[in-house]
Amino acid sequence: METRTKNTYRTSLYAFVKQVLVVCPNCTGKALVRADDFDTPKYEISLVKVVCTSCGYNKTLENISKRIDEKQKRGKVLIFGAPVDPFFHLPVWLQTDFSGELLWAYNLEHLDFLAAHVGAKLRERNGFKFNVKSIGARLPRWMTAADNREEVLRTIEKLKAGVNG
Ligand SMILES: [Zn+2]
Repeated sequence: METRTKNTYRTSLYAFVKQVLVVCPNCTGKALVRADDFDTPKYEISLVKVVCTSCGYNKTLENISKRIDEKQKRGKVLIFGAPVDPFFHLPVWLQTDFSGELLWAYNLEHLDFLAAHVGAKLRERNGFKFNVKSIGARLPRWMTAADNREEVLRTIEKLKAGVNG
């Protein structure tokens, strides 16, 4: 409990990276990056893969790393907290402009997480006691700013609705 620090949001991000919806590098449709055992201490590069059900694109990180030059370092450098999947660095599927800011998420669970946090702030303002710390998010200010919250929630809902469309 006392270990809930400002790093909790980071920790949470790790929980969402096992399945990241991305833009397919082949057909620009919706593809999925899977890193099922990412929470193990030494995850297998051969098990991290990007799969597209629209065009059949299917590559493991191992396939790709082998023929990519040192400079790009895909699979060698993991990127977190940016609107790309951590492994292949493909743009996330769930992203949209919000008044000049980028609202994005790795997957639906991540969107729900964001909505829960923003919603919690909203409820807090409306007089309900809600333990925001239990969600432990550290979100950008624009996302939780009082004036934006309801619109942010609407935008999240729109993104969610678009996933299955
Ligand atoms: Zn594709």
